[in-house]
Amino acid sequence: MTGLVDSYGRVHRDLRVSVTDRCNLRCTYCMPPDFADWLPGDHLLSIDELMTVIEVAVDNGVTGIRLTGGEPLLRPDVVDLVRRINALPVPPRVSLTSNGLRLVVLAEPLAAAGLERVNVSLDTLDRERFAKLTFRDRFDDVIAGIEAAQRAGLRPLKVNTVLMRGINDDEAIPMLRHALEHDWSLRFIEQMPLDAGGTWERSEMITVDEIFSTLATAFTLEPVAGRGSAPAEEFLVDGGPATVGIIASVSKPFCAACDRLRLTADGQIRNCLFARDETDVRATLRDASITEEERRSRLAALFASSVLAKLPGHGINDPLFIQPARPMSAIGG
Ligand code: SAM
Repeated sequence: MTGLVDSYGRVHRDLRVSVTDRCNLRCTYCMPPDFADWLPGDHLLSIDELMTVIEVAVDNGVTGIRLTGGEPLLRPDVVDLVRRINALPVPPRVSLTSNGLRLVVLAEPLAAAGLERVNVSLDTLDRERFAKLTFRDRFDDVIAGIEAAQRAGLRPLKVNTVLMRGINDDEAIPMLRHALEHDWSLRFIEQMPLDAGGTWERSEMITVDEIFSTLATAFTLEPVAGRGSAPAEEFLVDGGPATVGIIASVSKPFCAACDRLRLTADGQIRNCLFARDETDVRATLRDASITEEERRSRLAALFASSVLAKLPGHGINDPLFIQPARPMSAIGG
């Protein structure tokens, strides 16, 4: 095993696997309410195909798999997938990013199948605001899902929040208070240019500096050392042990330490969230003319070539930056 090392010496150990582009919410910054540009059903990888790619990735040094989407819990075989990943000879850590809606039903079975933890996305504590932001009146289901995940032992329970100007930017402090009271590990994420509508405006984005300054009026925040390749910069809140994370993808990119690769639900490897090129693995997975051994060796070569083509940074702050053709929901956040 040589590992997936790029031209800048970054070793790739984390694979984000999107298992569907479908979602049961319509978060305004991700997917327009009338979105209908779904991936064709026959392009979606089957559970066996997903497992083949994951096995090759693990054989090549990947130690963490995060299932995402779309909404990963809409995939009927998601519990089986977690179980099969955990049954690998050297199982990677398996986590999941979810909107939480189906956790009430699935938290227990997922934990029993070997899921280590879950990140739940929640942008507001206000029920009406939630319905406006997501076009679905499902706030109570998210809260129930978070509670179910905590009962199932999926800890630390991380909650991801995107703040938007004039929409929920007054919730930074209440969100953190609520998180401290309910044992959530809260992380604020800067809004990125990845919406299907192409409406992102830099001037409208709430930057990490703004979030930090707001939080600092109510809490003492001390940086936690040893961030490694983690996207979030963590701060001890009021002396700890609780922390709050801030993910500054736009204003303070962390590409130099990036160890992440992505697999889209239709079988394309992406070496960056903002990449404009993808490496197709679906054709190799479905090529009936080759042996299993050849298939795996070709897949390993495709991973290696994607990693070698990775740019030093995502380029969002470059004047020539062009938003990827796929929205976040089809890439896998
Ligand atoms: N459905 C799952 C969920 O809600 O977490 C997983 C997929 S979702 C695309 C993953 C994460 O991406 C969520 O935390 C969401 O808030 C975030 N996200 C989506 N679009 C974004 C954007 N334009 N900027 C920043 N974060 C975004």
